[in-house]
Amino acid sequence: MQGKNGNIAIKIDRLYKSFGSLQVLKAISAEIAKGEVVALIGPSGCGKSTFLRCLNLLEKPTSGKIEINGQEITDPKINVNKIRQNVGMVFQHFHLFPHMSVLKNIMYAPVTVNNLPKQEAQEKAMALLKKVDLVDKADVFPAKLSGGQKQRVAIARSLAMEPDIMLFDEPTSALDPEMVKEVLDVMQAVSESGMTMAVVTHEMGFAKEVADRIFFLDRGKIAEDAPPDVFFSNPESPRAQQFLAKIL
Ligand code: ADP
Ligand code: MG
Repeated sequence: MQGKNGNIAIKIDRLYKSFGSLQVLKAISAEIAKGEVVALIGPSGCGKSTFLRCLNLLEKPTSGKIEINGQEITDPKINVNKIRQNVGMVFQHFHLFPHMSVLKNIMYAPVTVNNLPKQEAQEKAMALLKKVDLVDKADVFPAKLSGGQKQRVAIARSLAMEPDIMLFDEPTSALDPEMVKEVLDVMQAVSESGMTMAVVTHEMGFAKEVADRIFFLDRGKIAEDAPPDVFFSNPESPRAQQFLAKIL
């Protein structure tokens, strides 16, 4: 699918989102290019998850327009399931199917949603497990995995639908410290394969090294949009300066 803006993956135009009287996102406009990695950072409660969830319609925007590869997903006639297949999401708490083996977790959507023949789905799942270095866990159930392994399975499961865009909402926040790196390494490899990514993270090392751009969200707005070297060495707004002073 190629729109009139051929190299733009995500175009957001005056996005608003409220929960009742609570206005969470306020006139967010932004563009993310194909293959770009954007790190979303900002204080707790500023709207990072809500913003991410609007991008695959897990939340319905109150107003504004979002285009994915030139297609307006905020059009009321859109097929929401199609959009979610194309825009994968990885959550803090993995959300694996507990009653299925690792292999079945990864095969499930390609087989049931895309009608991929089982044999093909299995080959694909094994190739993805190789990518996330978990081939030996194919027949294991999620309860037997470490947090880092669970999250790598969740990433593989998302990739099995061959999305154009991947969203990550604090993918390493629930992990023991020694497991953070193995997940960040897989995310970096995904980014190097050319994936367009938006990543909510507190891992500033990752944001610096892997992200092409930082969005600093503050009170429902993108307060700063800058390359990491600029953002981390010379944040413009006092709010970003305060935020960085607290976490670095
Ligand atoms: P962040 O991810 O940056 O911590 P969130 O996007 O989760 O922030 O939340 C932003 C604000 O919206 C918070 O005040 C939160 O309580 C509120 N909020 C988030 N989801 C809902 C919801 N489903 N219903 C009501 N309020 C919500
Ligand atoms: Mg959040």
